[in-house]
Amino acid sequence: MEQIVGHRSAQAQASPSALIDRFGRKVSYLRISVTDRCDLRCIYCMSENMQFVPRSQLLTLEEIIRIAKSFVDLGVNKIRITGGEPLTRRNIMKVFEGLGQLAGLDDLSLTTNASQLSKYAIPLHEAGVRRINISLDTIQPERFRKITRVGKLHKTLAGIDAALQAGFQKVKINSVVLKNINHDEVTELVAFVRTRGMDITFIEEMPLGIINDHNRAQSYYSSDEILSDLRRQYELIATTEKTGGPARYYKMPDSESRVGFISPHSHNFCASCNRVRLTAEGLLLLCLGQEHSKDLKRVVRAHPTNDESLRKAIIQSMLIKPKGHNFDLNTQEVILRHMNATGG
Ligand code: SAM
Ligand code: SF4
Repeated sequence: MEQIVGHRSAQAQASPSALIDRFGRKVSYLRISVTDRCDLRCIYCMSENMQFVPRSQLLTLEEIIRIAKSFVDLGVNKIRITGGEPLTRRNIMKVFEGLGQLAGLDDLSLTTNASQLSKYAIPLHEAGVRRINISLDTIQPERFRKITRVGKLHKTLAGIDAALQAGFQKVKINSVVLKNINHDEVTELVAFVRTRGMDITFIEEMPLGIINDHNRAQSYYSSDEILSDLRRQYELIATTEKTGGPARYYKMPDSESRVGFISPHSHNFCASCNRVRLTAEGLLLLCLGQEHSKDLKRVVRAHPTNDESLRKAIIQSMLIKPKGHNFDLNTQEVILRHMNATGG
């Protein structure tokens, strides 16, 4: 532990594999949920009436930057900011500006619903964000309102345009596909990204939190079903490229756009997991689909001026990273955290 120093490049030489779990997986990717609040209420993510974490219990923006820096000191080189809707957190640009200056952080990215991207796209790019994932499950305005309960499609579309104009390396669409809700639109969504030179990833719904609008098992629409629907219209060729993430990608011979699938049910990806998640209240979650966690807010507040204990706590947390999730759409035993609390 004494070898840990505050500068990533020196640290990397002294201990290149500080964050390795019991299964030999190297953790190099941190996702940070900066708020569990959101201006939308997507039916797969939240229930109609949500209890949010009181603002007084959130990590401060400075604490978020401090924790992120410790992860980078320990070899993490990718950080994604997520939520809830990250762009609804007050003064959130401070976090992007702070992280954008961390030596050793190669990849700073954001997941957003894009409702406020028209305002933030250029400052985000200036702060060092290079990749943005945007959630879009439908391009039909009325359906968009139903899926998000309150959202307006035109705001998200304007946010997508702003992101495309701001010059990010990659703007990717994420679509959660639900049977009889939007499964009939996958071909149109691919057409939408093809005309804009974006990638798209289709995601199987995960059973996180109790929801009331639909039955998750009945709404299950597998990645394989989507693939066969798309193949009626497009030639899709599987790529062998490894992105370090759970998505499997397909190329199309007549387009730059790629189509990805995140398939927690039909193609488990846990063996190559390289990531951990920090919640807005400072809990480090070692797996999206399990409850194993470490309270880093307690550690930063107990040691306000020195990060050694924080780095030790992060290293120790590797011992409790579980082998994988046990998602099962047919059981009543769901993970009680909703996706907005976990940080998707
Ligand atoms: N608000 C931002 C957004 O929607 O992009 C960031 C947070 S959101 C929780 C991150 C991602 O999680 C989104 O792409 C969303 O579609 C996905 N998501 C939310 N609930 C999910 C669920 N139950 N299963 C699968 N993906 C989910
Ligand atoms: Fe908000 Fe994103 Fe959850 Fe939709 S998926 S309710 S936009 S946090």
